[in-house]
Amino acid sequence: MDLQSTLADRLNAAIDAKRDDLIALTQDLIRIPTLNPPGENYREICDLIDARLAARGFDTQLIRAEGSPGDSDQYPRWNVIARREGAHPGECVHFNSHIDVVDVGRGWTKDPFGGEVVDGKLYGRGACDMKGGLAASIIAAEAFIETVPDYAGAIEISGTADEESGGFGGVAYLAELGLFAPTRVQHVIIPEPLNKDRICLGHRGVWWAEIETFGEIAHGSMPFLGDCAVRHMGAVLEEMEESLFPALAAKRTDMPVVPEGAKQSTLNINSIHGGQSEILKPGTGLPSPVVPDSCRMIIDRRFLIEEDIDEVQAEITAVLEKVKSGRPKFDYSIREMHRVIPTMTERDAPVVETVTEAIRLTLGKEPSYVVSPGTYDQKHIDRIGKLKNCIAYGPGILDLAHKPDEYVGVDDMVDSAKVMALSLLRLLGPAA
Ligand SMILES: [Zn+2]
Repeated sequence: MDLQSTLADRLNAAIDAKRDDLIALTQDLIRIPTLNPPGENYREICDLIDARLAARGFDTQLIRAEGSPGDSDQYPRWNVIARREGAHPGECVHFNSHIDVVDVGRGWTKDPFGGEVVDGKLYGRGACDMKGGLAASIIAAEAFIETVPDYAGAIEISGTADEESGGFGGVAYLAELGLFAPTRVQHVIIPEPLNKDRICLGHRGVWWAEIETFGEIAHGSMPFLGDCAVRHMGAVLEEMEESLFPALAAKRTDMPVVPEGAKQSTLNINSIHGGQSEILKPGTGLPSPVVPDSCRMIIDRRFLIEEDIDEVQAEITAVLEKVKSGRPKFDYSIREMHRVIPTMTERDAPVVETVTEAIRLTLGKEPSYVVSPGTYDQKHIDRIGKLKNCIAYGPGILDLAHKPDEYVGVDDMVDSAKVMALSLLRLLGPAA
């Protein structure tokens, strides 16, 4: 038996022995309700991670993303980043997890912040997305450090804020500080719940924009004296149904996006609003009868790696120009709100090859490679950090994220911790 296989067996045994510790750590993380919005208890959860990793020889830093969207003295955006140097020079492997969770919502039969374990499932808001993955990465690193104390390079673990609201007070902020620069970090694994046998290579792009149509205000009893912005928007919707939606559905990507329906371009209309608000504050009365002179629509366009952002914008302009040509008084504006370029790590990137081999050895099967329909923090690591060697890999079923009775399977956490530890062994351990 060669050295790598001996060490791999010892790592697996070390992680099996830490099963209760892994459960307890996940429960401790779930019991701190880090709801975002508004961004509660970030400091408390960072302190917990900080204390745990500092006790195991990590140098830790707490970083508040001052001035980021949502940051305030009431809801400060705290992040924790911990680094442990090895005995020899080498590469750095970074595990990044977001610490925030989404609103609980209705329909729970379990305590969302209880961390109850029933039939091998650990329940709670954030159990799969992604406190189970965070705990698995911590246990993997601890088992690796105990088993191979003289490893090369460095291990980093970060817990970051605000992923659910765009990551600006989290990974984006740390990346702006240079903490994900390729000179400092060479491999990034984000333990999002993609399932223990799947490697997520990237995500589709996003373009959010506000479209506004303009009209002219007049008395509601004499609409012919004004120009109704809502009717103009109706014409825009009609044109979208006619030409845009069929065109988007016809575009297919070669990216392995899951689920299948997301292999095409998509457009969602997030909101539409014209005229005065129907729900007025108590005591202010009903909306008055006026012809609306403005109607606004917010669109959420998800695009493919084969598409260009300029082309995505041009399609929307073309719809509006076509409507304009048939309606003499029609005018509009388009305002970009948010853009994320699609990203996909190469199939033969070192981190992909390493985790592939670790999945084969641990689970005895070939991994599948997927791309996420929505974005996650990889966008900031790619765009700001300029680091391409990044994947998402972690325990849990993506479909359970954000749902009532969210859970993570304990066996899945143990297995993915083994995959992560084995990946550390292959990247930072002694050569075979
Ligand atoms: Zn997540």
